[in-house]
Amino acid sequence: MSSDLKNNLVSIQESIRNACERFGCERKPSLLAVSKTKPAIAIKELYDAGHRHFGENYVQELEAKSIELADSCPDIRWHYIGTVQSNKISKIASVHNLYCVEGLSSMKHCSVMQNEMAKQGRSLRVMVQMNSSGEEQKGGCDETDCIKMANFICSECPNLQFVGFMTIGSFDRDPNEFNPDFDALYQLRGRWCQQAGKTATDYELSMGMSNDFVQALKQGSTEVRVGSSLFGARTYAK
Ligand SMILES: *Cc1c(COP(=O)(O)O)cnc(C)c1O
Repeated sequence: MSSDLKNNLVSIQESIRNACERFGCERKPSLLAVSKTKPAIAIKELYDAGHRHFGENYVQELEAKSIELADSCPDIRWHYIGTVQSNKISKIASVHNLYCVEGLSSMKHCSVMQNEMAKQGRSLRVMVQMNSSGEEQKGGCDETDCIKMANFICSECPNLQFVGFMTIGSFDRDPNEFNPDFDALYQLRGRWCQQAGKTATDYELSMGMSNDFVQALKQGSTEVRVGSSLFGARTYAK
């Protein structure tokens, strides 16, 4: 069991390196280990193997694990990758070792998060989520609103550090073919940077999961979010 996790980590890191050699990545992409539904002990094991960035998308679960692992993983960096809801923002904001919130998709949520961080006297990395596939059940905004939000964060939210854009995309895409949803995120970053006078390579593109992260890297991903091929398939309690 134990060595499986470490082997998975090593082999995914190797796939990322290989992809970058083949496609020429603009910067070294990071691996976000998506640990939702997985026990704290599995996270601890990867932490001990040197991994630091972990993603969760259920607030309750993130809160519980962050408390459980606070002492044994003091340097862990939590990313909240779930849907942000107004009534959960203060809970998200108070997570111990929270590093980045990736799913912001409303200006109101940005304002509330800004207020929480100002109260705590610290700053937080945030990403704006794009609904690149236009599917109703997917979170995120269209391109116009993503650009507005990025501008809003940069100009009105001094305690939020805008670090880039994230997307999930449609699950129906062929994982080995050009993915229009990844391209939409790539184009969004380019347009925003052009309008805002920023350098595209200074900003993240969080895209690509277990089955399509190589394709995402090919299309410019700077952060892949990998769950099941790292931790094994998820089983959900009924
Ligand atoms: C669960 C999840 C992932 C990881 O999915 P896998 O297919 O298990 O790698 C990535 N991103 C988000 C937003 C998720 O909710």
